[in-house]
Amino acid sequence: MIQNDNVDVFRTLTWSAGAGCHGGCGQKLYVKEGKLVMVEGDENNPWNQGRACPRVLALKQYVYHPDRITTPLKRVGSRGEGKFEPISWEEAFDTCESKMREIREKHGAESVIFAQGTGRDVGGPISFLAYNYGSPNWCQLGLSGQSCYTPRLGAMKASTGEFAVLDASQFSEKRYEDPEWRPPKTIIVWGQNPPPTCPDGFFGHWVVDCMQRGSRIISIDPRNTWMSTRAKYHLQLRPGTDGALALGMLNIIIREELYDKEFVEKWTYGFDKLSERVKEYPVEKVSRITWVPEQTIVDAARLYATSKPSAIQWGVPIDMCPQGTSVAQAISHLWTVTGNIDIPGGNVIARPAFGVTTYPYTTEELVGLYGQDLVDRLNEKRIGCDTYPMVKGFRGWAQPDMAIDQINSGKPYPVTGAWIQTANILGGQAARARFHYEALKKLDFVAVVDLFHNPTTMALADIVLPAATFAEKDSFRSWWAPMGVIHKKIQVGECKSDWEINFEMARRLSDKKLKWNNPKELFDERLSVAGTTFDEMSKNGPWKMPEDGPFKPYRRHERGLLRRDGKPGFETETGKVELYCKAYEGWGLDPLPYYHEPPQSPVSTPELFEKYPLIMITGARSSMFFHSEHRMIPWLREKNPDPYVEVHPRTAEKFGVYDGEWIYLENDMGRVKRKVRISLRVHPEMVHTLHSWWMPEEKGREPDLFGVWDYQINQLVPGPQHSDSGFGGGQYKTTLVKISRIDRREVDNG
Ligand code: SF4
Repeated sequence: MIQNDNVDVFRTLTWSAGAGCHGGCGQKLYVKEGKLVMVEGDENNPWNQGRACPRVLALKQYVYHPDRITTPLKRVGSRGEGKFEPISWEEAFDTCESKMREIREKHGAESVIFAQGTGRDVGGPISFLAYNYGSPNWCQLGLSGQSCYTPRLGAMKASTGEFAVLDASQFSEKRYEDPEWRPPKTIIVWGQNPPPTCPDGFFGHWVVDCMQRGSRIISIDPRNTWMSTRAKYHLQLRPGTDGALALGMLNIIIREELYDKEFVEKWTYGFDKLSERVKEYPVEKVSRITWVPEQTIVDAARLYATSKPSAIQWGVPIDMCPQGTSVAQAISHLWTVTGNIDIPGGNVIARPAFGVTTYPYTTEELVGLYGQDLVDRLNEKRIGCDTYPMVKGFRGWAQPDMAIDQINSGKPYPVTGAWIQTANILGGQAARARFHYEALKKLDFVAVVDLFHNPTTMALADIVLPAATFAEKDSFRSWWAPMGVIHKKIQVGECKSDWEINFEMARRLSDKKLKWNNPKELFDERLSVAGTTFDEMSKNGPWKMPEDGPFKPYRRHERGLLRRDGKPGFETETGKVELYCKAYEGWGLDPLPYYHEPPQSPVSTPELFEKYPLIMITGARSSMFFHSEHRMIPWLREKNPDPYVEVHPRTAEKFGVYDGEWIYLENDMGRVKRKVRISLRVHPEMVHTLHSWWMPEEKGREPDLFGVWDYQINQLVPGPQHSDSGFGGGQYKTTLVKISRIDRREVDNG
């Protein structure tokens, strides 16, 4: 803590509501007389080194926004009427407890679904409540095919036993000055525009830092982005064809013998089988599939394979192919066959710092926290476990497409309650959003933990519990490195942290007495494996970087630091990186990567393409908003006031629309309003639009629900099309649409 003119300055981490996001950047909170007065980047934090995004800088407007929910609320009108009245925490907890007990007694604990938003610090508390209540049905409800990082993580875990990320020196306190670190000579940025985003434990600007230190970029993106315009090669592929491209690049690298023969021989399994498979993907065929010129594919593959160390930084389009787990497998094989794994400047193995679990992502981590017996017992009822062995074997969540179908059908058992934690399902992630709306309306009881009213609270909530931002809560984080703590510095209304809320509910609902008296004791137990406590971290940190050993790169596979038995190699059945994946084989999946056309495409559905001749890409991040959040924050909304759609000038001419015109994007599932932005950023056969729009300034009650049915683009995104893995395939990048003009009178009438 630093003191200056009665202003106290505190260092903390952001991983939570407020700025939103998956990242754990270090920020300095300036607090005067208990009020937040300013935020700025913490220059001492090695993760972001003093940088801050617009959402962090606008935090004060978020924290003290007049629309914040600051007391618990109970619904007093009918659902959707928008009538709520404040109640005490005691009444809110009592109501939730009695409703959830009633459901458990009548239908079993699995009849309550625990739905969270994206990967920030609610993963810990929501799973804690679900498992203490006795329900295995925790998931990111609405996110079709779990198609955000899960397919990539599943593929890496299955073939390597670990997760790997681009090495931008983030595991070292000295960062770019670490003498062991090398900047990647070439970085493939695959389906991502890192600078405006900090996805999945990765600070987006690190790629720019590497570029400043000499890294060349190969950009694989259907759009022209900041990154692609600075790339040595830009592969502007047709959305959904990433798998074919990866297999084509593997074909070139193997055929031209550009792979790392020593690494392949010593540390991989199944190279011959992979070599046979990639023969099915010659560059001419891949060029036809992807629309990328043959020579560009060849040049990119050669550059990546011959400029060691090289690294790949990838994004959600890979997950959003029906065979997301296979596409991810193919791409990860690129870094394996070129020997770019576990080396400085390559893709390095990333483990939660010190082995501390904050967010039990995998089935394995759930077992670590709750024991094999409980997880096995609950898995008998976990939605998707029987159908998809990979869902059971890898990820500790219910399968979200099956979960909503089950809420709708009541089969094989009824789901009658939901605990929704900072997840605006209707305004945010839900594909076939209307179907989710109709199904969720059938639930007997819905509790929502959130910070603002939104279409989901309005349409569904019986009880709303006000959550805290990162400035108002204690929590902790170990998503890769460093490990860190978030600590409370201000109080807003009666808001509580997600951990406080869920801990109290778990205390009331668990069969057994909890062994901790409060969340802080639980944090201390989890942090004890790192030899520290929450208070110690708050005082000295708030971050801690692992020393050399199992939790810090490099070359751990050679030093016996990856396997449980202490032998050199990787933590897989064969002890090697499996190019032919034994785990996939065991789950009944193709052990080798392959490519299938997207379910909707000019090739797979030519008649549909004739009717809807534009491939819609949606879901890209904006620096102003985190998914469906922040639309009410003045500084941020001013920068991006309207839901726009980027349309190529030739396409605009073809459809007869002009820049700034409100139009409909339309397909058989419905139509959604957008404002045209004529732009060369998109290909003429594609349109790109931001997702998760709703209008906090419009009426909240039914039928308006803050305009969600006018602007929620996921209404056009169809239902599940994932492969046999149960993961991948939410068609957020490949839905076919057309543009229709809006009648002038309709525009004038709003
Ligand atoms: S986007 Fe980056 S800078 Fe902004 S809150 Fe997330 S990690 Fe921090």
